[in-house]
Amino acid sequence: MTDLLAVPATRREAITRLAAALRPGMTVALSTHVNADGDGCGSQAALARLLGQLGIRAIVVNPTPWPEGFRWLLGDDVEERSADGGAALRQVDRLIVLDISDLKRLGNLASTVRGLPQDALVIDHHLPGEEPPGTVMVSDTSACATAELIFDLAQVLGLAITPPIAEALYTALVTDTGGFRFGNTSPRCLTVAAALLQAGVNPEQMYARIYGSVPLGRVRLLRDALETLEADLEHGIAWVSIREGLLETHGATSEDLDGIVEHPRSIAGVRLALLFRELPTGQVKVSFRSMAGVNVHALATQFGGGGHARASGALIGGSLEEVRSRVLDAARRGLASGALADG
Ligand code: AMP
Repeated sequence: MTDLLAVPATRREAITRLAAALRPGMTVALSTHVNADGDGCGSQAALARLLGQLGIRAIVVNPTPWPEGFRWLLGDDVEERSADGGAALRQVDRLIVLDISDLKRLGNLASTVRGLPQDALVIDHHLPGEEPPGTVMVSDTSACATAELIFDLAQVLGLAITPPIAEALYTALVTDTGGFRFGNTSPRCLTVAAALLQAGVNPEQMYARIYGSVPLGRVRLLRDALETLEADLEHGIAWVSIREGLLETHGATSEDLDGIVEHPRSIAGVRLALLFRELPTGQVKVSFRSMAGVNVHALATQFGGGGHARASGALIGGSLEEVRSRVLDAARRGLASGALADG
């Protein structure tokens, strides 16, 4: 059997190039996308500690607050300064952007990042976006999660995967693969997960922290979201809609929406599932998910979004009704014509 943990040559070279831009004594900021998820947060918490081993101080600066459900990832040694916004980014020697292929995913930090004296360094596994967030890129869509690339960075630079680093990387792998069920669950992904268990991760404890400790409001939000379920089984589409204000009703946050779109996706005959979330800004956040054979990236990019072939997102201007009908029209057309077919 091939050594699945061996770091592919192009990845190794990219990691070496990125590391050459870093020096002991530097202060580096780590940023990820709006509404950071398990991969964004886990990659940041792991990389901050790995950089510490190189004598580099890392601070986490995100465009939206660190999710409460992942607060435990920070421990008492990872410094999070998202509240300071762009000002914090202007104080550091270098910025590393994680889990983003398009600058606009940095939300309110994007304009600051465009104006920084030095380009950002990027570690990511998404399909390329319109405006890359930086120049020196460790970018590989075959990685199951950005965290797989952080694991490789540790290997290439000879850094130690301590238990808190292993837990952070494992959290990222579990969440980005839907609990090792999605198509990105590669043999290498499972081999990295096995190495993380060897490094001290307790999977039962991780399950309890990630999926077994959710606030009551999250489950009530799921109940109300499922009330809105609609399906067009002729085309194989199902969707749910979240009205503005519903999250507040349940004391819920964006992170509590994670996974809801899996319910419409789970219906027999559904090839494309959607979640529409009405925002107070007059926009609608759309989550696109698909089953094998359907490329939702091709649909999301029609609306200025992006992501992966089976999971993409877009932020679209208009009312909930308008956006829903435009997206559903495009989805029906794309499925009927074969324009969304892949592999
Ligand atoms: P989500 O539906 O927010 O869970 O996102 C699914 C995937 O699409 C993730 O990999 C995101 O990084 C990506 N994504 C979400 N929203 C956008 C957007 N507005 N533009 C580009 N990519 C996005």
